Amino acid sequence: MTVTESVLNAEEQRVSDLVDQLLTEFPPKTTSPTEFLGAQFDKGLAWVHFPVGHGGLDLNPKLQKLINERIYAEGAPNPMYRNPIGHGMTGPTVVVWGSEDQKTRYLRPLFTGEEIWCQLFSEPGAGSDFAGLSSRGVKDGDEWICNGQKVWTTLGHLARWGLLVVRTDTEAVKHAGLTAFVVDMHAPTVEVRPLRQMTGEAEFNEVYFTDTRIHESEMLGKPGDGWRVSLTTLMNERVSIGGAMPLKGSGTISALTSTWAKMPEERKDAATLDEVMQLWSRAEVLRLTNIRANQNRKKGDPGPEGSIGKMAGANLNKDIYEKVMDLLGADGMLYGSYDMIRPETAMGFDTLQKAFLRSRANSIEGGTTEVMLNILGERILGLPGDVRVDRDKPWSAVPRN
Ligand SMILES: Cc1cc2nc3c(=O)[nH]c(=O)nc-3n(C[C@H](O)[C@H](O)[C@H](O)COP(=O)(O)OP(=O)(O)OC[C@H]3O[C@@H](n4cnc5c(N)ncnc54)[C@H](O)[C@@H]3O)c2cc1C
Repeated sequence: MTVTESVLNAEEQRVSDLVDQLLTEFPPKTTSPTEFLGAQFDKGLAWVHFPVGHGGLDLNPKLQKLINERIYAEGAPNPMYRNPIGHGMTGPTVVVWGSEDQKTRYLRPLFTGEEIWCQLFSEPGAGSDFAGLSSRGVKDGDEWICNGQKVWTTLGHLARWGLLVVRTDTEAVKHAGLTAFVVDMHAPTVEVRPLRQMTGEAEFNEVYFTDTRIHESEMLGKPGDGWRVSLTTLMNERVSIGGAMPLKGSGTISALTSTWAKMPEERKDAATLDEVMQLWSRAEVLRLTNIRANQNRKKGDPGPEGSIGKMAGANLNKDIYEKVMDLLGADGMLYGSYDMIRPETAMGFDTLQKAFLRSRANSIEGGTTEVMLNILGERILGLPGDVRVDRDKPWSAVPRN
């Protein structure tokens, strides 16, 4: 046994003992989700690689899988479901860039889902080119006054806190003039308006800031660190969206295989089976790629698989749900209701029809497929870079509409 293996075994044992304790003291089936998640956080089993006292034990992130498998098998709540942006993206950003006070204040209620978070990056004129954003932050004593409009803000209507990026220096080049803050979404100067999607729901919003004052203690990092802070969020977002490692045959592909299984025998022809199997094989290749990416990340080599997983996962999801609609035939048109609702989560779909419509967003959210292709072309294949006319100019000198 190598030294690393024996350390891991000792760590595994420690984590496993803590999981035993958690499940005995707080049986998931008879404990409220909030109480269970709070206890999970307090025992350092929320994000096991986070610092002690902030939901973790400073241990190898590999151990989280062991924890999750055991607690989910006992019916424990998944924190990602209620607070996907918080759990997958802003929590990991606060732990890297936040002060001790911010970590203590924000991480526990974020994990328990008592405080929902949103991500305030995209603007009407800055999505793929997020670093070109126009919302402004101007220093006034020990506060910053923020003005501007954000868009596509998932779960903004439920959010208690937002991770906001604004331009604080217009004379720096675009990436250098950004600063990140935690903003109070309940402040009277923050207006959240619904954006209705083709599913009928409004899971996202546009958010307006009008002279919103944020204390400097709510900055993440320093003035000008906004781009680097955002990269932490975006890297976690890509993994959170595209890095799924479901068990073999589960995940999105199970929507297709179960639809196939329920089809009348006379419609199960060989050609359609072949199409189903092709999609199944793509899902399996992606699953294995994501497992490999996960192993590489743990060795400290993130590699290109994050962008590959995001892109391939988006295309695959869309193709799978399209095939599900084909298999359903005319039933695919039975949509239910287009009544405008404000969903409680951005995950989980009650019907295949809704999942089909929602899957169309997969190649936009978290970075579009075209942008992923640019990243892979430039960084992996070494192809010539995208034309970037604004790279060396102060943001104020870049033409924009
Ligand atoms: C479901 C959903 C949820 C979202 N949630 C959030 C959220 O919570 N918070 C948040 O801040 N944002 C969120 N977004 C926004 C998302 O990050 C942006 O939509 C995305 O980055 C694309 O930006 P855009 O919509 O402005 O499109 P644009 O950047 O305007 O792109 C338009 C088209 O041009 C293409 N294009 C742009 N630049 C290039 C290029 N250099 N090379 C080749 N093609 C290019 C794009 O691929 C696309 O096809 C969400 C989006 C969706 C769909």
